[in-house]
Amino acid sequence: KTVVELNQVTKEYPGGVAALRGVDLRIERGELLAIVGPSGSGKSTLLHIVGTLDRPTAGTVAIAGHDVAALSDRRLSALRARHIGFVFQSFHLVSGVTAQDNVAEGLLYSGLSRAERRKRAATALERVGLGDRMHHRPHELSGGQRQRVAIARAVVGEPDLLLADEPTGALDSASGEAVMRLLHDLNADGATIAVITHDGEIAGALPRQVRIRDGEVVEDTRAKPEDADT
Ligand code: ADP
Ligand code: ADP
Repeated sequence: KTVVELNQVTKEYPGGVAALRGVDLRIERGELLAIVGPSGSGKSTLLHIVGTLDRPTAGTVAIAGHDVAALSDRRLSALRARHIGFVFQSFHLVSGVTAQDNVAEGLLYSGLSRAERRKRAATALERVGLGDRMHHRPHELSGGQRQRVAIARAVVGEPDLLLADEPTGALDSASGEAVMRLLHDLNADGATIAVITHDGEIAGALPRQVRIRDGEVVEDTRAKPEDADT
């Protein structure tokens, strides 16, 4: 099943900057890939388009088979809430609120009861290795732990796609490695994950690299099967 399909996507900002130019991209269920490129190459713009936070100026975008252009902003928000989880460099947790309640926020629009949301949040926190940090607030957690809380919040609703924007950018290397290991584990359990990064080393450790430069996909490489788990 195809989770994301972009055909000839172009994004021009007012003033005439073409941040994306004719991008084709398919992401299949179960993939773990890097979208990699230098600063200014168009990564954030691509994240916004794939995340349905913004619409292209030309070309088509389909998320889990839904044509984004056919949806009103309101329906698009509903599609996003159901299908896409986001993780950011700076965590974006709610301060003063426990890890469990932060994660439960990821189910706010699920229609589940508050008790059920909190129960699933607890399970998700256990999944990311923070079962013993449930009642801690963000300022009581290390950076790596905060990012794992953010990942739990992003996946608690079992989205079709997890979009992680420089997820290790604010972390020391050991915490960053733990976060990348967690993303690998979640992928092994079936999650589809796209990591946006400028870091070639992080990208190189993933099974697929989509390289972008000046708004164009210049390379799309998959690891050979025999390299898969070395
Ligand atoms: P990256 O995330 O790889 O640094 P961006 O997608 O942020 O790249 O930017 C790609 C290009 O689009 C850059 O030239 C940038 O200056 C331009 N750009 C990004 N956002 C805007 C905006 N809101 N308005 C005008 N130009 C923008
Ligand atoms: P790290 O070792 O990853 O840098 P810290 O040294 O900040 O993390 O924290 C070590 C442990 O202490 C963490 O598990 C964290 O949950 C806990 N901790 C950190 N700060 C506080 C705090 N202010 N209150 C309660 N627990 C804290």
